[in-house]
Amino acid sequence: MSLKANLTSADLTELRETVLGAADPLGVAAELSSAAEDGKLADPEDAGLALTLAAEIAESRNKLEAALRYVDKALESYGKRDDAQVSAARAVRARLLFRAGREDEATAELEPLRPLLTKEPDAAAYVSAALAVGGRHRIAEQWLTEAVKEALAERGAGEPSDAEDAGTLFFLLQQRHRIRHAIGLSHDAHDNLAERLETRLTNASTATTAASATGDLVFWPQADFEALPADEAEKNGGTWDGHRARLERELVRRAGAGQTDLVIKRHGGGQISWPPERNGACWCGSGLKYKKCCLPRSRG
Ligand SMILES: [Zn+2]
Ligand SMILES: [Zn+2]
Repeated sequence: MSLKANLTSADLTELRETVLGAADPLGVAAELSSAAEDGKLADPEDAGLALTLAAEIAESRNKLEAALRYVDKALESYGKRDDAQVSAARAVRARLLFRAGREDEATAELEPLRPLLTKEPDAAAYVSAALAVGGRHRIAEQWLTEAVKEALAERGAGEPSDAEDAGTLFFLLQQRHRIRHAIGLSHDAHDNLAERLETRLTNASTATTAASATGDLVFWPQADFEALPADEAEKNGGTWDGHRARLERELVRRAGAGQTDLVIKRHGGGQISWPPERNGACWCGSGLKYKKCCLPRSRG
């Protein structure tokens, strides 16, 4: 894969969505890095963005040293700049340091980002992703809880009517809810609020997409799914089980809406036709019978 010349910010955003399905993601990462360093981006200010993306690609392929090199270059290119993009890159660096076992440095990178939790809509996701990678779920839970309290106090009385109304508070509640589930804490009032807002959001988006949903259903085999960065995993169902359940439910829904010849696009290539025989091997590759594996997931 050869990148086109003069990549724009929009190209980088698009690449971010598609690159993990590319034939040679690491080649793309290397090209992004040289484009950033040789001033071959449409806007030289995007060098940090391109290098951060290169770092995330390398991370997804477990090339930690390369990933750290890219993110260091990204931060270098940002210089004294200090904005949402730079903070996101710092969080990526922290996550990589945790993965590399350099825990103190990782924590030192994250601490200064903590005040952003109530200010930057994306901060809840990138800060908690980094802490979770480092096994610091308890700290994440504590930081998010305090940020939720602060955001609620700023809001004053009255529950937000929906996710949009909640704004940054929604992202805090959502990440906190996820982290608390991950460490087996039972629901508290904030979790209940998170769930109410999440349900309303899902209902609103299924109502608008239900009629038209015929897009590709991309299946991430387990190893690929587990190598996804946390935010990508979140977009694809959160957990491996969640990912399969979501695909199965959507397939059942499409079948119910009269669509035939349903197929699942396998990440990394190939198509799987759906549904398999009840007693046949499940489409997800678990080795179990379909009726014992993903078939029941559609009812979860
Ligand atoms: Zn819950
Ligand atoms: Zn299955």
